[in-house]
Amino acid sequence: MLDDLYKEIILDHYKSPRNRGEAPGYDIKARGLNPLCGDDIELTLTVEDGIIKEARFAGHGCSISQASASMLTEELEGRSVADAVGLADRVREMLKGGDEADADDLGDIEALRGVQKFPVRIKCATLAWNALKLGIQEHENGSAGSMDRTESGAAIFTDE
Ligand code: ZN
Repeated sequence: MLDDLYKEIILDHYKSPRNRGEAPGYDIKARGLNPLCGDDIELTLTVEDGIIKEARFAGHGCSISQASASMLTEELEGRSVADAVGLADRVREMLKGGDEADADDLGDIEALRGVQKFPVRIKCATLAWNALKLGIQEHENGSAGSMDRTESGAAIFTDE
């Protein structure tokens, strides 16, 4: 029963993605690729006084990757940048099956918990969150991280 509900939430985000597009005049931009599945996500965020005002995503890929990105944008608006990093860590912990992970107040994101059972799909679910963390790190350090990158500047996440 619960699994069916979760599937419905994921499909709803996939079919009716929230915040699709590009945040106008964005401050943070991050693109993540998951070559194993062909998922490609680009996040754009506008930040004002440390608060995320707008979060949008573009790209294509499987239902898990797109639903996860849609949920991410929905959760980020109104959060501080530091809070967003904390959220990304909690979501990643949950998706990787951490028993300690507290998912009680993660809203729709909790619907992705089921991917724990399918290791190959975990990368699909964490893609947007990994890209988010990298984008924020680069924004704060003003430098590119040590990730492998394509010519277009996309970070490729393969080892998580
Ligand atoms: Zn995927």
